[in-house]
Formats: sequence, C-alpha cells, structure tokens
Amino acid sequence: MWSDSILDTIGNTPLVRLLTLGRDLPCTVLAKVEFFNPGGSVKDRIGLAMIEDAEAKGQLKPGGTIIEGTSGNTGAGLAIAGIAKGYRCIFTTTDKQSPEKVDVLRALGAEVIVCPTNVAPDDPRSYYSVAARLSKEIPNSFYPNQYDHPANADAHYRTTGPELWEQTEGRITHFVAGAGTGGTISGTGRYLKEKNADVQIIGVDPYGSVYAEYWRTGEFKESEIYPYATEGVGEDILAKNMDFSLVDDYVQVDDATTMQMTRRLAREEGLFIGQSCGMAVAGALDWLEAHRSDLTDEDVVVILLPDSGFRYLSKTYNDEWMRRNGFLEAATLTARSVVADRSSDAVIAVGPESTLAQAIEAMTEHGISQVPVLEDGEVVGSLSERGVLDRLLASPDARDHAVRDAMGEPLPVVDGSVRLDELPNRLDGPTGAVLVTTEDGGFQILTRSDLISALARVSS
Ligand code: PMP
Repeated sequence: MWSDSILDTIGNTPLVRLLTLGRDLPCTVLAKVEFFNPGGSVKDRIGLAMIEDAEAKGQLKPGGTIIEGTSGNTGAGLAIAGIAKGYRCIFTTTDKQSPEKVDVLRALGAEVIVCPTNVAPDDPRSYYSVAARLSKEIPNSFYPNQYDHPANADAHYRTTGPELWEQTEGRITHFVAGAGTGGTISGTGRYLKEKNADVQIIGVDPYGSVYAEYWRTGEFKESEIYPYATEGVGEDILAKNMDFSLVDDYVQVDDATTMQMTRRLAREEGLFIGQSCGMAVAGALDWLEAHRSDLTDEDVVVILLPDSGFRYLSKTYNDEWMRRNGFLEAATLTARSVVADRSSDAVIAVGPESTLAQAIEAMTEHGISQVPVLEDGEVVGSLSERGVLDRLLASPDARDHAVRDAMGEPLPVVDGSVRLDELPNRLDGPTGAVLVTTEDGGFQILTRSDLISALARVSS
C-alpha cells in the first residue's frame, strides 16, 4: 500500500496519551502530534487547502507564484504542495523565527525574505506588508494570507476536528490549543462544538500577545503587546480566522515556562516537539489543575502539538540560548554552560617548573586568586594566593622557587555535564573552586562566585 503523492500523507496524525505529565489528574490527557505531517507541522493541512481553493477559483494558474508571510510552518506546507503541483514559492518571515525554519523553506526550494519583527504590522517593512506588496508586483502570483483565508480554518474543520472525534470515539470533552492565525482552534473548535456543544475549547496565549486579553474584554489593548520569544502563537493583530466566540476559556503562559515545558516533553515524554507545544501543554496542565475538582475519569482532554523540535535546535534545545535568555532553571543548567562564554578558551594555568614569580605575574595579570598547575595536560596541583604568601614570608628568595615546591592539592575536576544544583557540594573544599572539563578536552576554573553570578542571572 503506497501513497500516490507526498500530499496524501498529510493529516491522520496520531493521538497519544502522555506518559507521565497530567497522570495524577482525574481525566485522560492526550496529545495530537502534528509533527507526523510531511512538512513537520500542523500547517501542512492548510498549505494544501489554500492552494486547492485558489486553483478551484482560478486564482492560481499553472506556472504561478505563491507568496505568503509565514513564521515558517505554513511556508513548509505551501512549499511541499507547490513542489507537487509545480508552483514557485516566495515567503516573507521575521528575524524572530529560528534559522532552522528559514533553512527548511530554502531546502524546499522557496525564496525567503527575512523582515524585522519589532515593527508595526502596517509598517512597509513588516512581513505582512512585504508579502502583500510582492503579491501586487509579481504577475500570476497568489497571496493566500493565512490570517484571513477561510480555507485555513476550514481545513481544520474538515480534517483535524473529524480526526479527533473519531480517534476519541466521540469522547473528547476538552480541546486545548494555542492560536496564531486561529485556524486550528477555530476550525477544530467549530467542528467539535457542532458534534457536542459541551466540548470546552481552551485557548493558550503567550504573554505579549493581544489575544487572551481581547477574548476577556473585547478590547484591542496595545498595552498588552510586547515582544516575546515563543514562535508561531499569539498575535499583534486580530486574524479573521480567529473566532473568539468559540473559545470557552483562555490561559496565558510566559516564555520561560514554555521553554522549560518544551524540554520536559522531549525528556520525559519522548515527544521532541516545538515551543508552541510546550506552551499548550503548560497552559493545559495549569487550567486542568485549577479545574481539578470539576474533572472526572469521563473527561478526555486533547492538547494539540503543532510542530517538531527539529525547528528549535538552535534555540529551546540549546543550553547557551536558553541561558542567555534567562529561560533555564538551575536544575537544568550545567557546569559547562557557566564557563562556556569565557573570553579565554584555555584556563589560566602554570607548569610545575615555572617559578613563583611567573605564577604571581599570571595571577596579577588575570586578577585571579588561584591557578591550577598543569603538566602535560594533567592537573597535578594548584597554587593559591595564600600558598604564595606563606612562601614569600618564610623565605626571601621564594620568588625563584619552582611552583612544584609550593603547590597544594589539585582542584577537584568536575565533568562539564554536572548540574548546577549539584555544584555547591563540590565547591565545599578550602579553595572554593573546581576545574570543569570543556568540550575540547581542556579545563576551565569555576569558583563559588562564578556559581553565584550564574544563579543570579537565571533567577533575574
Ligand atoms: N504553533 C506554531 C509553531 C505555528 O507555526 C503556528 C502557526 N502560526 C501555530 C502554532 C498556530 O496555529 P494557527 O495559525 O492555526 O492558529
């Protein structure tokens, strides 16, 4: 049995019970795992749908060009459908999106224009405006505009909704999803509510987006809009595909919680998924916890997970990026990540045959109070300010003595993968310092004060 084309593999994604998360809740918690789509995301469903709609209406003719503003995933869906059907693709995206997404679009043969994120939607430089302008300039082109195109929500009404109804045998009671264009939540929500008006639709929004507040108050509050890191969800505009009347409740999640939950899903559930999935799960678990007393074992909750972790390797799955953005918990930070951005590649060290005068010079020049003593790449001892001082007081010509005669015990060596919450015990020695192994087989020194500053950065 084979598929006639890659397009026939879109949809019919698995519905999977979570292994541990939410297991202590009275209800069943399931995830609709959309990275099984050929372009790696839920948006494959709408790429094909918008193209077929345009073909049927004569808006897209053979040899035509598809132009769209996309955070990346819709582009992949459009590009795959474009390849199968012979259309050229030009996409605009923002510099906020992870480079992996742009690489995927280019790998699929699309031209990509990266536009600034932090400009108003009606600014001529915004990715919305550039896409709209190009669609006017380029002949025989089609601009789907996923935000407002009815085929977007319709695709979910025709596919995602019925799949969930069938996969749960009509038992679904709650559907939880983030919204960007709103196509997923509105199309799926409309279908499910038509089947059973009691199905609860829970929206999840990143702080910085205007949606949750708009749903609560009906007011478009500019003051709610500010930059956030979570990609693909939340908006600074009201998309026509977003039907707020279908949403029964809205929860908001901050970036750090989203990123940490994304990583937990990979580690604890084996679900290597993207940021908006972490956001949806964090929001869902929050909401379910708050409504625990209303839930029973009859309740079947579905959380939609839009895309794959491969799109975020340089971000959420990169310790450095997580640390720089203050998204890491101490428990997930490693010793190596603390010393990784030192300006000097190699640890400042002295050899056993160096003189104390040379060691003093190195310590003064680099403003450090202790140096490891290395011989042929091995740690053989350490020299502290206190050790040097004792020597100088005891003997006037100590400056010419070899380090070997003045050095103390070597600093403990700690593997770079040791977590920060395990470090205080290792730093208990009299020197208050350890040597951390680096990826190139070398060492970096890590002191108590390094640990304190790293933890201060994490919690700030
Ligand atoms: N998550 C990601 C990663 C996305 O790219 C998108 C689409 N922008 C969404 C969620 C939201 O889906 P929708 O546009 O259907 O609301």
